[in-house]
Amino acid sequence: MSARDHHAAAVLRVAVPGPIDRLFDYLLPDGSQADTVRPGSRVLVPFGRKRLTGVLVETASGSELALDRLRRAEAVLDDEPALPADLLQLGLWAASYYHHPPGEVLATILPVALRRGETPRTEPPPRWRITGEGRAALQTGITGAPVQARLLDLIAAHSDGIEASALRTVSDRYHSPLRALERKGLVEPAPPAVGETPPAAPGPGLSDAQNHAAATIIENLGGFRPILLRGVTGSGKTEVYLEAMKRVVEADRQVLVLVPEIGLTPQLLARLARRLGTTPAVLHSGLNERERLAEWRRAGSGDAAVVLGTRSAVFTPLARPGLIVVDEEHDPSLKQQDGFRYHGRDLAIVRAQRAGIPVVLGSATPSLETLANARRGHYTRVDLDERAGGASPPRLELVDVRRRRLTEGLSAPLTEAMDETLAGDGQVLLFLNRRGWAPTLICDDCGWTAECARCDSRMTVHQQRRRLRCHHCGADRAVPAACTECGSEALLYLGQGTERVEEALADRFPDAPAERLDRDSVRRRGELDAKLERIRSGEARILLGTQMLAKGHDFPGVTLVGVLDADRGLFGADFRAAERLAQTVLQVAGRAGRGERPGRVLIQTRNPEHPLLRSLVTEGYDALAERLLDEREEARLPPAARMALIRAESTQPEAASACLRAAAAELGDPPPPDLEVFGPAPAPMERIAGRYRAQLALQSPSRRPLHQALRILRPWLETAREARKVRWSIDVDPVEML
Ligand code: ADP
Ligand code: ZN
Ligand code: ZN
Repeated sequence: MSARDHHAAAVLRVAVPGPIDRLFDYLLPDGSQADTVRPGSRVLVPFGRKRLTGVLVETASGSELALDRLRRAEAVLDDEPALPADLLQLGLWAASYYHHPPGEVLATILPVALRRGETPRTEPPPRWRITGEGRAALQTGITGAPVQARLLDLIAAHSDGIEASALRTVSDRYHSPLRALERKGLVEPAPPAVGETPPAAPGPGLSDAQNHAAATIIENLGGFRPILLRGVTGSGKTEVYLEAMKRVVEADRQVLVLVPEIGLTPQLLARLARRLGTTPAVLHSGLNERERLAEWRRAGSGDAAVVLGTRSAVFTPLARPGLIVVDEEHDPSLKQQDGFRYHGRDLAIVRAQRAGIPVVLGSATPSLETLANARRGHYTRVDLDERAGGASPPRLELVDVRRRRLTEGLSAPLTEAMDETLAGDGQVLLFLNRRGWAPTLICDDCGWTAECARCDSRMTVHQQRRRLRCHHCGADRAVPAACTECGSEALLYLGQGTERVEEALADRFPDAPAERLDRDSVRRRGELDAKLERIRSGEARILLGTQMLAKGHDFPGVTLVGVLDADRGLFGADFRAAERLAQTVLQVAGRAGRGERPGRVLIQTRNPEHPLLRSLVTEGYDALAERLLDEREEARLPPAARMALIRAESTQPEAASACLRAAAAELGDPPPPDLEVFGPAPAPMERIAGRYRAQLALQSPSRRPLHQALRILRPWLETAREARKVRWSIDVDPVEML
């Protein structure tokens, strides 16, 4: 056999982006040698009439198809694989575990610029320094542009220049303010530095409990071990991570830190940078393509000692991984909720296992999944029970609002406590997870309510913009002047959203400036920063907001927290409703009294006897979690069982259920032993945006039967007539039952 024939027989097995759950075989491109192409490289291939960029998974010496039927790949795009071997394998593992097409998974992992088949040059990260004019401007000050002013301060503090990536500690969106400074001639690009690293700043001396926790992580370095670090908010978990991270960085290994979307703040970044004396690579959804690629490469080359990001950062290449930290491991935003539905925390554990390194899961309110693993001894658990720096834990109290007159959702005990706090110089935080003015518009004469035409839900009144909005599909229309049913003008706005409470606060507490934080009042990053600044400076006395307030920010001046409506979480359709409510209440409570002053938390409820709420205020999260775990055990729900959801939706009322019924039939009647099939049933909210939604739940005491069932269902869904009429998806380990 001539050398040429031998090469012609080499087959490339390529993951091509697309909805098909398999690899495709191609012949080597003309002029390529089989022994020079490496798995993880991008390959340009013809696909139907298109050309696509796929990823080479492996080379083979033959194909199931006749070789003369294979098409020839056009080019191998990388000498050095775009996906290093460990990431390629992690991606393939995830594709098989989540039953998602490998081509789509691998494409998701790649930064967009590489996904498109380009090979952009990496430019050295630009550096900046201040000009003479800039120094003059420092004297007079820059007014009306706080970000520019802070950027200029920071740049001025580094006389021989500062890396642009370090400017992110001022704001994520530093680009246009930086360009504005350049246009004004106040800053200029600086020549590259020669090996400078800022010295690491010392932290506080650790408490015994913190030292013990850090030692537990450190003694596990060098091998796989999941470690649950359970500590109330403010107990000093981040200091523990930092202590362990310092060791890893000193040993010239890298640390990957995953945080929930909302937890990735410039403050956290600045803290890591300062304490470790290194500029972390940062990966989050706000980066543009070029920045993302640059950070990805800095991580993959090993130049970045620390990599910080949200869930997708679990797929960042690391040259020398040493430790993974998942902060707020219970946070649902670590799970991707559409497309490739992976859990960042769970993949972090898999990645740590494959890399042979420890993974730290930190939380004040760990997920029941993680608690169950710790209970079974699969994870090491360490607790921080005290708050750092001697701050005392907040006191939780229930306020029974059943027979009280509420003024715009505020009870007398709460407003009195607010008076007291405000008189004593404290700040007040009010949590209401409902934006808008009022959740219901109802006709007082005939009982008609304003509903969304496309969803099974009511429209929320937004008073400032005088619109009715659907929070599920985004539908938006004018607030009617009269009832559309009977013409009466007696329309009532029932219930409170943050907009309405904000107005009530201005009436009741005219001397206490309030800041509202929700998706309507904070549309751009800069607005959030400005609001946080007014809160931190003490200018704002009352903070009112949704989930946005609950996480990631320290408000040391807050000594009173009010949870305006705890009841919505109590009776949710999701079996995790109670767990989520407890987590949210404690996250919010954790914002209080982080300084020297103890905090007080008032929880308004119409169900003060509810065992969950009682347990939460009298026994605390751990005891409550134990009860919930027992309940799940009895009901055989996760984490006591494995679950997958098949969802389907269609504009036709019956199509989704019909498809899922046929899917269930594929599994046999009765289904195989160890597999339970529930449904199909309508989704908790059946119609959203004009589509009827149904779901089929598969459950099993162990992983294997579940995955066997999914291996039957996936190909069926790809080809069945019933499935062609619907949009369907598979969700393994779902965190929301929506
Ligand atoms: P967590 O991550 O658990 O919310 P942090 O690590 O952010 O807690 O600590 C909360 C606050 O307490 C921070 O301001 C931190 O600097 C401070 N702190 C942490 N540990 C100590 C300590 N041992 N002594 C004094 N202050 C500490
Ligand atoms: Zn009416
Ligand atoms: Zn709608």
